[in-house]
Amino acid sequence: MAINPIRIALPEILNMQTVNCWLIKEPVPTLIDSGELTEESWKSLNQQIEENGVSVGDIERVIITHAHVDHMGMANRIVENSNAKVWLSEYAYQWGYDVNQLWTQRSTLIKNTFAQYINSDSPVGQLFGQTKSFFSGMLNMWEPIPKESIVAFDSESGIDIGGEQWDVIYAPGHSSTQTVFFHKESRHMFSADMLLKLAPTPVIEMDPDDPTTRQKGLPTLIQSFDKMRKLNIQKAYPGHYEALDNVNALIDNQLNRIENRLEETYQLIKSGSKTYDDLYGTVYANRLSFPATVMMIGYLDELEERGLIKKEMTSEGIYSFRTD
Ligand SMILES: [Zn+2]
Repeated sequence: MAINPIRIALPEILNMQTVNCWLIKEPVPTLIDSGELTEESWKSLNQQIEENGVSVGDIERVIITHAHVDHMGMANRIVENSNAKVWLSEYAYQWGYDVNQLWTQRSTLIKNTFAQYINSDSPVGQLFGQTKSFFSGMLNMWEPIPKESIVAFDSESGIDIGGEQWDVIYAPGHSSTQTVFFHKESRHMFSADMLLKLAPTPVIEMDPDDPTTRQKGLPTLIQSFDKMRKLNIQKAYPGHYEALDNVNALIDNQLNRIENRLEETYQLIKSGSKTYDDLYGTVYANRLSFPATVMMIGYLDELEERGLIKKEMTSEGIYSFRTD
């Protein structure tokens, strides 16, 4: 039997405007994801849950899809105001109690990665020069959770949501910690940020198998798209915006756009563009946004993965790209 989750859209201050918390009232009041921790978000969560005849104090389970601030930041606030446990997969588990350390590690990885691609004087370089407060401000919106309030769920064994058994599927690319929940009978999915009306951003994150290196986001995301496509999903409850139908058409569309950008990037390198900054300036025509800046790294990763381009570290410590 399909369940009917209630969409609670909370304010999101980073990129997306709103983030979803999905409320399932029966048999135990459950939230999928928690929003980010701001007073505005907390007020909105309380209000919208009450409009649906329950209160935050009734929530027993908060199931987290991935370790990003907008999905997990407010989990501890819910715990403090209820008897809820926070459910985390093995990929996100340590983020529950150790966010301070892991965020430091992730932000260092992001900064070090960009330093290898972007000249600090370029437009993108200057954008990053202004993001210090982004990195340090993160932990104001994301609190650690006491270990005794965390329940680890094992991806292999699935998870009960709304009295039904859902498969847990690892779907990295946007985040190396991302899981989605799939109900075989109805072919419904809690798709987190794997399936969104806009293509997910391949955020720069640690490889779970080796936290000192980054997972190549876009190549990983493309593999996850293939995995999703085969499931023939009928309805997706995403991490942002309204529920999605026609999921395979949406996936094809997003993959097509990615292919077009890959081709464009490849042709630019072939005709002599050598640096990230050159490529970004043409592909995004000086439209500066964080999602676009990481997408550009993704195109370069994917072209390299396909053996179409090579990169070389120059004496300035910045990669130079060429075709063969
Ligand atoms: Zn998100």
